[in-house]
Amino acid sequence: MHTQPPVSHFPTDISATITASWQRRVDAAPDAPCITYFDRTLSAADVDDLSCALAAALIDRGVRAGDRVAVSLQNIPHFPIAMLAIWRVGGIVVPLNPMYRARELNTALSSSGAVGLFCAPEAVGIVTEAAPGADLAWVLTADDRQFQQENDPRVFPPRTSDPAATVTGERPFVLGEMANDLEHFAGERPSPVPRKASDIAMLSYTSGTTGPAKGAQTTHRSVLLVAFHFIDWGGLNADDRILALAPLFHITGSVIIGIGTLLSPGCLVFLNRPRPDVALEAFTRHRVTVAIAPITMYTALYELPHATREDFASVRQLFTGGAPVPPAKVAAFEERFGHYILNGYGLTESNAGIIGVGIGERAPVHEPTGTLSVGRTMAGISIRILDDDGTEVPPGAAGQLELSGEQLASGYWQEPEATAETFPEGRLLTGDVAIVDEDGWIFLIDRIKDQINSSGYKVWPREVEDVLYEHPAVREVAVVGEADDYRGEAVLAYVSLREGMSTTQEELIAFAHDRLAAYKSPRRVEFIDELPKTLTGKIKRRELRDRPAQA
Ligand code: AMP
Repeated sequence: MHTQPPVSHFPTDISATITASWQRRVDAAPDAPCITYFDRTLSAADVDDLSCALAAALIDRGVRAGDRVAVSLQNIPHFPIAMLAIWRVGGIVVPLNPMYRARELNTALSSSGAVGLFCAPEAVGIVTEAAPGADLAWVLTADDRQFQQENDPRVFPPRTSDPAATVTGERPFVLGEMANDLEHFAGERPSPVPRKASDIAMLSYTSGTTGPAKGAQTTHRSVLLVAFHFIDWGGLNADDRILALAPLFHITGSVIIGIGTLLSPGCLVFLNRPRPDVALEAFTRHRVTVAIAPITMYTALYELPHATREDFASVRQLFTGGAPVPPAKVAAFEERFGHYILNGYGLTESNAGIIGVGIGERAPVHEPTGTLSVGRTMAGISIRILDDDGTEVPPGAAGQLELSGEQLASGYWQEPEATAETFPEGRLLTGDVAIVDEDGWIFLIDRIKDQINSSGYKVWPREVEDVLYEHPAVREVAVVGEADDYRGEAVLAYVSLREGMSTTQEELIAFAHDRLAAYKSPRRVEFIDELPKTLTGKIKRRELRDRPAQA
């Protein structure tokens, strides 16, 4: 068991619930800037007032303690306002990826039993398609043009009509606008519904280490432990302006940004769905001190020909995580802009970052594999490296990374079998293969799980295969990740065709694209006569994954 040396101390100042911790932040400095969105900044008191008004609206819409409410939005002020309102009424937040198509959305809504959903007006059509079979009683649209006035056309393309109004047909839910609810209930401050630290705060949907999407359930305490570790680890203070380039609907965004930095005394900077050129400008415009971004965003910033060292002059620290970080990219970024990017590791089931590189430290590289270390454990997290039989391996040997600690999710929502498999006795089997050196540095060198990691977005091959099997020409299919310079991995489908049938790569990609979030559809399709199989007829996905690319 490795426990030393952790990169943080155990946070002592957490309040029992997220609502109580938020209240402490507001009371400490109500007028302090809390969220900047283009040309407007909301103070902590503004955000509090808005979330209280929305909480009153939620009560009026029938939301009760323990109800699940989904939030499917980009990085806009409405996201944390909705989260705070849901927690105030004792509800459970279900962040969902706004890129989901109807079938993915239906799975998450049905599984969570969400009673309400916040989404963009443009998403109402897909939500209407996804709603049958789910328990959605209401949907509130959040207009991303609210809370700013400059309407940068790069971010907000001109709109000729209300996108939600164009959706016709029967709706099994009541449709409303968040802005109207905020106005209608302005000034109301319903008392927070009492919750315990051990109550569930959030369900985060993930393909997990095995099988289809399921909701990792996490308590107020677990989430706060990770959030406050981040505040301590990053040394976040009242002078910080934290650029949120990781999406709030993913675990890093919801826990580290949506909760961690929101509870810190600093100010969050949101750019909606971030574009690299707009992000670059934001660094100087808002005098950003801290940024949290996937490595692909740092690469995109690096690729901007006009980016200079001066653009990053106000920066104190850059963080990344969620996907393999090539050491060469970190080195090139530092050489050009003078900032070293700190790596961190976590997964949905660990509530994001529980392993990381300390401020001022440099992650070592594992020479035999060229892998940059993801860091060392945060306080309270212990790890073991296990062989295939679940026995701990000797120091320096590779095996599955297993985590334990209070920060972890407590299991999957209403999935006892999947919970028992992935969380044996409350420990978490990550599906990642790691090596730990004698100083506690952890290197991820492979994956046992079949998950594909494309720009930090996780793709479960089975889901893509199931969709491609619906195409009439497809006989067999195996989906794997292939190396991609920008994304880390790209989705590749090996397909064999039914006799006498034909199709093209373009057609299959478009077919998947219509049915799955864009990042899940294959970038490439390779047709082969016969997929490799085991003696029992199981397709050897791993053999295909390790095959050299044909293209
Ligand atoms: P998710 O549940 O979407 O957060 O995905 C978690 C998975 O992302 C982990 O199990 C790892 O496979 C991968 N991952 C997370 N952080 C890193 C990192 N810093 N380097 C390499 N892979 C990572």
